[in-house]
Amino acid sequence: MYDLIIAGGGPAGSTAAYRAAKDGLSVLVIEKESYPRDKTCGGGVSQKAVDIIGKIDKELIEREVFGARIFLPDYRNFTGMLDDRVAIMTRRENLDRWLINRAENSGAVIQDGEKVLDIVFGADYVEVVTPKNRYRSRMVIGSDGVNSTVARKSGIRTRWGDGVGLCLEAEVELGEALTDECVGDKLTEFYFIGEWGYGWVFPKSDRISIGIGGWGTRLHDPKTLFRRFVRNVSLQKNIDIEDKMNNVNIHRIPAGGFDRRIHSDRVLLTGDAAGFVDPFLGEGIYYAVKSGEIAAEVATGAVESDDFSERFLDEYVLKCEKEFNYDLKSALRFAKITYGRLDLFLNALRSDNRLFMEYLRTVRGDMTYTDFNRWCVLRSPVTLAKLICNR
Ligand SMILES: Cc1cc2nc3c(=O)[nH]c(=O)nc-3n(C[C@H](O)[C@H](O)[C@H](O)COP(=O)(O)OP(=O)(O)OC[C@H]3O[C@@H](n4cnc5c(N)ncnc54)[C@H](O)[C@@H]3O)c2cc1C
Repeated sequence: MYDLIIAGGGPAGSTAAYRAAKDGLSVLVIEKESYPRDKTCGGGVSQKAVDIIGKIDKELIEREVFGARIFLPDYRNFTGMLDDRVAIMTRRENLDRWLINRAENSGAVIQDGEKVLDIVFGADYVEVVTPKNRYRSRMVIGSDGVNSTVARKSGIRTRWGDGVGLCLEAEVELGEALTDECVGDKLTEFYFIGEWGYGWVFPKSDRISIGIGGWGTRLHDPKTLFRRFVRNVSLQKNIDIEDKMNNVNIHRIPAGGFDRRIHSDRVLLTGDAAGFVDPFLGEGIYYAVKSGEIAAEVATGAVESDDFSERFLDEYVLKCEKEFNYDLKSALRFAKITYGRLDLFLNALRSDNRLFMEYLRTVRGDMTYTDFNRWCVLRSPVTLAKLICNR
């Protein structure tokens, strides 16, 4: 019997596995895909996420990003840059393989190509059922993404309800020179050009990630919207992105900041499975690795105390709340206000460079959304009042 089984080997699962194995637990990760496997994602890893991951292989860094170019609905644009690195651009196929190898090297057993179908609770164990095997452990971490089987089978959550969005993304190989020409150096691009959410173009070394995302029901006919977005970006840049595009990937994404159950007896949920994603930007990798780290710490405490009760595991909820979940609630307030009057927010961002810089610092991890919201109130009570009153 293992101390810990982790369902899903994305950033949340591999970080939890790495930390728990380093702490001396016997750990099994069960991943339904076979590595190397891709995950639909922009691959942007904020500096605050890099800080948690720790010493990262330089080969994984496709580009370093110091700022962003923001596009308005009429494609006028403006740019903000920090002196410090805001994020690195990676390819998830490579990042996730590196993270899972690191977990394996620290002692975790990795079983890929095997899907978790069910979990069954015994008197003093949990049984994890796959098509090939039944594995036993003292507790389970559900790191199996937005469609989490662990969340459903443990009864923690049967459906998402509010706060789930949709993203469409394609990786388009342009070659290094054309990628430079397309996005420029050290920048990412964000397009706030429709009612449905935003679009992005992220540069990798020889390709771009291009995508759109939106919350709830705003994204009507997403495939047509995506094609139109790619065509318009192609026209703006005079680069034929559309013809070079092969696969278009669609993936759900949960918004953070809602009150949700994330644990039960013998079970913790992490990352997307718990709904830990920035509701304004859609950033999830930071929250995945942070919650994975906390889950490993709490699981180690549970094994040491031989106590796997929901009450003991409340510690996980409290730590997540303190470290980032309270702040996701601030991010949700910020997202509701800004998406409610995006024109006002974008105007404020364009006319107040300091505001732009502070937001970039928030993404980088120098300040929290809670600090940022407070800073906005002090900086510009009039602008904020207008934003709130016109919601
Ligand atoms: C289009 C798009 C673009 C995004 N861009 C960014 C970005 O640029 N930066 C950023 O920070 N975030 C981004 N995100 C969010 C980010 O991708 C997620 O928040 C992050 O991947 C969550 O990590 P995770 O480990 O919780 O889940 P995942 O990365 O989804 O990993 C879950 C793993 O579980 C496995 N799995 C699922 N079901 C089972 C099962 N039944 N049994 C076994 N294994 C299972 C999956 O195969 C997968 O490997 C984006 C999301 C989308 C959809």
